[in-house]
Amino acid sequence: MKTHPLSSKFRVLPLQLVLIVPFVMQVFAAVGLVGYLSFKNGEKAVQELAEQLMKRTTSEVDNHLDAYLSIPHKVNQINANAIRMGLLDVRDRKTIGKFFWHEMQAYDLTYISLNLPSGEGAGAGRYDGKTVTIDDNVAKTPSQPQNMTTYLADNDGNRTQILATATWDTLNEINYTEPAKAGKPIWTRIYTYYDPAFPPYIAASAGRPIYDANKNLIAVVGVDIHLLKLSEFLRKLDISRAGQVLIIERDGMLVANSAPEQPFKVVNNEIQRLKATESPNPVVQGLAKELQKSIPNLQSITNTQKLNVNFQGEHYHVHIDPWRDEYGLNWLVVTSVPESSFMAQINANTQTTILLCIGALGVATVLGFLTSRWIARPILRLNQASQAMALGDLDQTVKDGNIQEFNILAHSFNHMAGQLHDSFTALEKSNAELEARVEERTAQLQQAKQAAEAANHSKSKFLANMNHELRTPLNGILGYAQILQRDPATTEKQQKGLGVIHQCGSHLLTLINDILDLSKLEVQKMDLYPQDFHLANFLISTVEICRIKAEQKGVAFNYHPAANLPIAVYADDKRLRQVLLNLLSNAVKFTDFGSVNFSVEALEKKEDHLSTRIRFQVSDTGIGIAAEKLAAIFLPFEQAGKRDRNSEGTGLGLAISQQIVEMMGGTIQVKSILGKGSSFWFEIDLPTATDWLSQNGNNQQKVIGYQGERRKILVIDDHRENRAVVIGMLEPLGFKMMEADNGQTGLDKAIQMHPDLIITDVMMSKMNGLEMTRRLRQLSDFTKLPIIASPASLSQVDMQETMDAGCNSFFPKPIEFTGLLRELQQHLDLHWIYETPPQTDEACAAEDNPTDWLVPAPAELAALYQAAQDGFMADIQLEANRLKQLNPQYAPFANKLLDLSQKFDDEGIINLLQANM
Ligand code: ADP
Repeated sequence: MKTHPLSSKFRVLPLQLVLIVPFVMQVFAAVGLVGYLSFKNGEKAVQELAEQLMKRTTSEVDNHLDAYLSIPHKVNQINANAIRMGLLDVRDRKTIGKFFWHEMQAYDLTYISLNLPSGEGAGAGRYDGKTVTIDDNVAKTPSQPQNMTTYLADNDGNRTQILATATWDTLNEINYTEPAKAGKPIWTRIYTYYDPAFPPYIAASAGRPIYDANKNLIAVVGVDIHLLKLSEFLRKLDISRAGQVLIIERDGMLVANSAPEQPFKVVNNEIQRLKATESPNPVVQGLAKELQKSIPNLQSITNTQKLNVNFQGEHYHVHIDPWRDEYGLNWLVVTSVPESSFMAQINANTQTTILLCIGALGVATVLGFLTSRWIARPILRLNQASQAMALGDLDQTVKDGNIQEFNILAHSFNHMAGQLHDSFTALEKSNAELEARVEERTAQLQQAKQAAEAANHSKSKFLANMNHELRTPLNGILGYAQILQRDPATTEKQQKGLGVIHQCGSHLLTLINDILDLSKLEVQKMDLYPQDFHLANFLISTVEICRIKAEQKGVAFNYHPAANLPIAVYADDKRLRQVLLNLLSNAVKFTDFGSVNFSVEALEKKEDHLSTRIRFQVSDTGIGIAAEKLAAIFLPFEQAGKRDRNSEGTGLGLAISQQIVEMMGGTIQVKSILGKGSSFWFEIDLPTATDWLSQNGNNQQKVIGYQGERRKILVIDDHRENRAVVIGMLEPLGFKMMEADNGQTGLDKAIQMHPDLIITDVMMSKMNGLEMTRRLRQLSDFTKLPIIASPASLSQVDMQETMDAGCNSFFPKPIEFTGLLRELQQHLDLHWIYETPPQTDEACAAEDNPTDWLVPAPAELAALYQAAQDGFMADIQLEANRLKQLNPQYAPFANKLLDLSQKFDDEGIINLLQANM
């Protein structure tokens, strides 16, 4: 499966995870955030609440102290005023005691006292905290040590009975000495007194001296407040349930505390006050110690201080508030509350929040899982269906689920699947139809192809037959033109005529070849048959054919062969001639005025000197070719000009020529201007024929015979004309010619007569030339016999086939005389006898006068006579030529014989021989 390029960046995740994780995270975040905020808000609210509570408590304590501690001084003032005004007589201790008893009923005080400078005193107090008793003392004297008497009183404050007696030294007690000394109302030091019969007495004592007009001290009045009262008050405060409130003096001594423990202890019947740091209550002690650490000098505190104190793993909020009054009290009210007492709820809430969070997370996960499964399941169904479709199973329907959107999707999918199914069915149907039609068409095409092939075959066959049929007479025409040209009896005028016949025949041959070549081109079967030839002669003879036509039309024909051309080259001269003739005859054909120019030049010799690059160019001043037609003229059957002018041609020439030149390694190129003329040229590398000269040095001379014994040549051809041409060419040279008209008779004759060489046609009825060759080669006598295959046309057979059959060489018809001689020389290792140089006048004269003839000895004439009797003209000619070679002076006699033999005048020959034997 291909992965999307993005998937490398973002990992591919399952749908369920994608749905669950964000959902759970959201829930978790929301619950967590709400929990956190509520916790924080709660914490803040608690802090504020604590602050408020502490403030309120402090002010409550302050107010209480203000109110409560002002009472003693007010009572003192009332008492002092009553004494100064004379309403109370200080000496009437009984009344004063009763008065104080009543005051004690009115106020929540511990003791009200009067002390006189005389050492006497009176007072009322609650020693046990409940019952008001009356004290009365006289001055302490050694005679009366128990100078103090305590009385129980009735409901009106009248002494009823003595409760106890004790020693009391008024003048040395601080509640007398200190106010007297201060001379103004004060609080004395905190005062303690211990009597095992009563609860420990520890009190703050307010004292006031009373002076007469002369500033003499009359008395000191005092009011005590039991400090337990303050502790009780503190214990009643709200805050005390969780926190602690202390009142301490600036030296750290405890005055009161909200703790259940007393702020003092009793040691050896004496009350010892405690410092806050010594309190038996651990919280009080701890707080005091922390306080001492934070603020070592308590004297320095002038306004409210706030502290946060940690001890015993608890966090305490602490307020320290100074409290003082005009009478010298200078205390510190310490309020503290542990954070836990408030935070307990908050922490409990936090725990609940966390639990809720976890619960919500769990619920969200389960819900997410279920929801995602619920959502994913139909999507998976859809997915499975589409995968199945992708694998080719188009019968897919997705069932409805519980999700509306999914159902819409499913409907669309089903619709799509249905359409796809329909389309595929339609496609398959049309495919099938198409296939059927293709098959039908293919069958039709096959038929058409077969028909075309059959037609083509017929055409090829027809062309081959035509070719064969035309070549046979042509072979005759060309052959005899050559034979006659060689005839010494032919006059010069006849020679010229024969030349024209030969050339026209050759041209006709070219045309036939063109048609054949086309059919060969169509099956790509054309071959080149290169051989050595004389280039200049080749060009001249080609030019001559066209020059005649040009001259007939009144068009100048200029031929410019360059001087640097090689003498002989190795190439397929017939094909090259075909190309040149095509270009030249086109030039002549399409030119009415002006000239046709043909130039041939050697461009460069190859480094190895083995070949030369030659450029052939044909230019004319003719009608030219329109630019748009230029490309098409090389296609078969393409003609650029008007119909009437083209009536001569077939439109094949250039197509074939181009193929031939391409096979030779070049390309025909053309430049043409309509109405001005055309220029065609091509360049090819032609190998130089170096040993041509040695072989053909005497080529210009006419061969008239050969040296050595007579050779027998068997010509096998089913056309009499063809046999006649070869025989006509070779018999005069002295060969013994035998003939056969098919392969079978050829085979028989060969076995019977043992010829030195066989020239055989290829296609023949009964047995063809190749079959005959094969059979012959199987016979031990004929393994080495030279056999030349000479097919009537190239369409019948190719060179390789003949070689495979056992032929030694390939020499197609029409037979070219010089070429044939070359073949014979090669295979029979012949030494030619050439015509002797022109005869002397003497000899010429002798020729016409038989009496002057030098006649060979009768023995030399015996063979001639026999041949004449047998009617073997060829033998006669051979013999005549031999005589000429023997002695030039025999020439007139021999020429006469030849002349007669040409005319087939065997009687004349016999007569002549008889006359001279
Ligand atoms: P054709 O047998 O018709 O001459 P070719 O293949 O030889 O066929 O030539 C094809 C056509 O090219 C001709 O029909 C003619 O229209 C044009 N062509 C060839 N050579 C010449 C030229 N020298 N001048 C003008 N037209 C030419």
